[in-house]
Amino acid sequence: MSSLQSLHPLSDWPRRSEEPLLISGPCSVESEEQYIQTANALAKTSKVHLLRGGIWKPRTRPNAFEGVGEIGLEWMVNARTESGLPVMTEVANAEHVEMCLKHGLDALWIGARTTVNPFSVQEIADALRGVDIPVFIKNPVNPDLQLWMGALERIQQAGIQRIAAIHRGFSHFGDSIYRNKPMWEIPIALRTAYPNITLICDPSHICGRRDLLQGVAQKAMDLGFDGWMIESHLTPDQALSDAAQQITPEALVAMLSSIQIRQAQSDDITFVHELQALRSRMDKVDEEIIHLLGKRMRIAEELGRFKKEESVTIFQIDRWKEILESRTMLAEQVGLSKEFILKYLEQLHKESIRTQTRVMNQRD
Ligand code: PEP
Ligand code: MN
Repeated sequence: MSSLQSLHPLSDWPRRSEEPLLISGPCSVESEEQYIQTANALAKTSKVHLLRGGIWKPRTRPNAFEGVGEIGLEWMVNARTESGLPVMTEVANAEHVEMCLKHGLDALWIGARTTVNPFSVQEIADALRGVDIPVFIKNPVNPDLQLWMGALERIQQAGIQRIAAIHRGFSHFGDSIYRNKPMWEIPIALRTAYPNITLICDPSHICGRRDLLQGVAQKAMDLGFDGWMIESHLTPDQALSDAAQQITPEALVAMLSSIQIRQAQSDDITFVHELQALRSRMDKVDEEIIHLLGKRMRIAEELGRFKKEESVTIFQIDRWKEILESRTMLAEQVGLSKEFILKYLEQLHKESIRTQTRVMNQRD
């Protein structure tokens, strides 16, 4: 069993009470004036708990703004004094960690391009040994849950107690409305493996554009995330990095006010009873479905034997097409999405082929 099982939630630092944790600030620290003004504006909202700002920027292509470097750490610390908010930045190597510790930053995050590389994560973990500072770990750019877990483990094994995971989506080839596809099943799998982990959503880097932020932030709330990291800039269109996804502090407040906050549980007795009744109805349906699937697989076994006797192939393209067509039509009639039924049929067909293959290759 991984030691991450024993990982505690971030406690309530730096939150007040049970409200979702909100990390905000510009993508990049651009100047002392810009950063302090943004910090003050965000502090004034009373919604932000922790200020972010990138000073070493990992850019996909060269010749773009790559951050102001170490001088930015001084500006961040000054912004903390002015605004009263703790400050955090992204570290990608041991040198970055040492500079952040020297300047007294309050928290660190590891970016997606660093989480992919166990050498870099281990180097950061070694630099953090014996230090007590919260570390937020973004998912790797590729959809690899093990790699994300590995990074969390490396940091935990360095003795860091306050650890959180940040979901920022996954890179992909081809068209998508998202800059990085959310693939919600991955953070859900992380939460399933480690129920206590503090899980934050970063709608800015998932969306890459402002108009999608609210929907993604709401979805994270609906799925029980503990908070958000959302980029905010005083003049987003003039931002030196990630201009299209940043929003003003005022727009951030407006967005938050239209997000429905959800609790993990309710103690309203009527609600609890009705929830139980609905769940037991669902349990029965699931039992019926599983029995029916068993019945279907036994028919597949018979089919396998039957085809074997005649030396007929297992895969029959016309039959598969007919199944796809008739089941999709029926699914539509009962209100199931095409996307869902196609995924389901694919799995079912795979299992049916596997079953028939086993029967066919059995020695008599
Ligand atoms: C960032 O937070 O500005 C950043 C570079 O994010 P990511 O590592 O998610 O790309
Ligand atoms: Mn950014």
